[in-house]
Amino acid sequence: MAWYCSGSTNTELVENLFKGGLIKDVRVKDAMLGVDRAHYSPSRPYSDSPQPIGHGATISAPHMHGHACEYLIDYLGAGSRVLDIGSGSGYLTHVLANLVTGPGTPDQGQVIGIDHITELVDLAKTNMEKSQDGRQLLESGKVKFIKADGRLGWKEGAPYDAIHVGAAAETLHPVLIEQLRAPGRLFIPVESESDGSMLGRMGGQYIWVVDKREDGSVHKEKVFQVSYVPLTDAPR
Ligand code: SAH
Repeated sequence: MAWYCSGSTNTELVENLFKGGLIKDVRVKDAMLGVDRAHYSPSRPYSDSPQPIGHGATISAPHMHGHACEYLIDYLGAGSRVLDIGSGSGYLTHVLANLVTGPGTPDQGQVIGIDHITELVDLAKTNMEKSQDGRQLLESGKVKFIKADGRLGWKEGAPYDAIHVGAAAETLHPVLIEQLRAPGRLFIPVESESDGSMLGRMGGQYIWVVDKREDGSVHKEKVFQVSYVPLTDAPR
């Protein structure tokens, strides 16, 4: 499936993802059309596959970026506050910013991208500076990239309408749920814990969608299997 959805230009890639049903929401499509992946992916930018960006990290496949936005879309309005943990290349941070910042909206949204590797924090900024609207997002403070351990979230900017995690966590970190607004939603890949049985050992990673409802109650749903690089300690 992924192979068929690649393109030779950014527009072709996004249109193919839409035609293939991998992106369904027009707002997500428009937000992705607004960011040239060539500014973020050093190799094969219009291929629907993950690509290495150095430091053991990858820019996720375009369809995964699309899925993440679609699961979060109801929490991504003009003025929403978003945390993107494991921001890596900065691509998804830019797409999320397109979804929450309308030009001239008095109530401005903000996206904070967090990575624990200094070089990748710098890379994300450099990538975003390649376009005029990317430069504006940085200059206006609508997008900020911060070096920190994303497993702790970023308390200073909380509460968030939406939190995206771009690397697989060992557990569903409760601190991230604490930093959600009510209502708010967390999208996070989590390593499934082995229960010691043959089946348990096969484990794997799954996306979890965690909702904090208006009354503060928390609802967790395991939605599909994935393969992300792990959320780890910072390299020394
Ligand atoms: N959404 C990014 C994914 C990058 S790969 C993209 O599509 O470009 C996952 C990223 O998570 C890497 O950049 C890695 O450095 C980062 N990461 C891993 N563990 C982390 C941690 N504990 N805190 C913050 N970032 C982390």
